[in-house]
Amino acid sequence: MQKPHPLRFALPLLALLASPAAAAPGDAAPGDAALAKAVLMKGVGFATVKGRGNVPAYAAYLKSVLVEGGFAPGDITITPVGETAILHLAWKGSGKKKPIAVIAHMDVVEADPKDWVRDPFVATQDGDYLFGRGVGDNKFDLSMIVTALVRLKAQGFKPGRDIHVFVSGDEETDGTTAAIQAKEAKALGVEFVLNGDAGGGELDGAGRPVGYSLSGAEKAYGDFHLVVTNPGGHSSRPTYPNAIAELAATIAPITDYRFPAQANEITRASMAAAGAKRSDALGKAMTAFAANPEDAAAIAVLRTDPGTIGQIGTTCVPTMITGGHAPNALPQRAMLTVNCRIFPGVPPESIRKQLEVLANDPAIKVTLEAEWPPAPASPLRPDIMAAVTKAVAPRGVKPVPGMDAGASDSVFYRALGMPSYGVAGLFMRDQDVFIHGLNERIPVSAIAPAVDHWQVLLTELAK
Ligand SMILES: [Zn+2]
Repeated sequence: MQKPHPLRFALPLLALLASPAAAAPGDAAPGDAALAKAVLMKGVGFATVKGRGNVPAYAAYLKSVLVEGGFAPGDITITPVGETAILHLAWKGSGKKKPIAVIAHMDVVEADPKDWVRDPFVATQDGDYLFGRGVGDNKFDLSMIVTALVRLKAQGFKPGRDIHVFVSGDEETDGTTAAIQAKEAKALGVEFVLNGDAGGGELDGAGRPVGYSLSGAEKAYGDFHLVVTNPGGHSSRPTYPNAIAELAATIAPITDYRFPAQANEITRASMAAAGAKRSDALGKAMTAFAANPEDAAAIAVLRTDPGTIGQIGTTCVPTMITGGHAPNALPQRAMLTVNCRIFPGVPPESIRKQLEVLANDPAIKVTLEAEWPPAPASPLRPDIMAAVTKAVAPRGVKPVPGMDAGASDSVFYRALGMPSYGVAGLFMRDQDVFIHGLNERIPVSAIAPAVDHWQVLLTELAK
């Protein structure tokens, strides 16, 4: 879908570009795509890795783009949080409906230039791809959101409800900034949240769109520690029990245990859609589970595949083990780390208690060391489904709800009762996904339709 574009905004912004690679003439896409590409490429140049203090400057740059695009400076607030920062744009609507929020994050995962083919903090176009840390996660959708807002403003769009854009600054590490913003969103009466850092489309090997996942739920993350301590002593004079042996005895029961199978509206819908596409035993089990989440035969099959075991319940896996301090000393301490991906709505304390039962030894202390707030699955609202269906229709696909095994900023909003939907505009081939890894890249052709994607979403949901 081609819309008239505010080229008058694009030109001065292009002139702001610092990187010579970004300024190469002739490779800019037309219209808003040029602005989106410029904002994305310039954005990669801010190395917004934890501890480097570059997020405030990136936030200031994004604010300058919005102000140049017609937003009042007073409607955009940048608040420092330690060395990072948060950005909040409040676009006042007519108040016909309750406010909504759009979220994304400015920080990126660390990247060591020694390991990359190109400088990770200079966006570089090579053939049909843009390379750079954050060019996908999450500066892509963030730049597309900013561009769509500028385009809507230029077209004279008047929202029928307040649109709050909350951009966080430590999603990849501490998650403290999204927690602050979620509270603010709650106080502002936000009805639901659109997250540009989850969901998204899939391309086949030839680059044709083949599917779109709308993320409506995320499993909670939990690290549990099992610790045994012992007075120790010399290894030539053994005493019992031995701390390492005691801890080791817990590993098999924890590994062999299967938490109860669970389902929600989102996992049933995603199983039904995925099952319909396959004719093998796994596909049949997906279809059977979608129809009846208590089907024991289907559950047994789904538990044998790493792609589906996590979709049907909580999983816990021993991931690290440490113990002992000298080859000739009785161990004074042994510790097992168990990483759990907790099904939405399950309290982490119930998982801790289950691990205690499985350890079956009062000498072993089980503690929850790191967790994300448990967040319920978000209901599949007809207005969201209709808007996303319209946004992805030009690509010839329909949205399929999905549950992620990890966590994004959405959990902080869901935990406070605001449904949140991962509706990223980025479509990728499986083999091009290097998010968090080396040589992160996106196809340049992903840019123009992603701006349209966000424009349709915002127009449909905030008209
Ligand atoms: Zn991200």
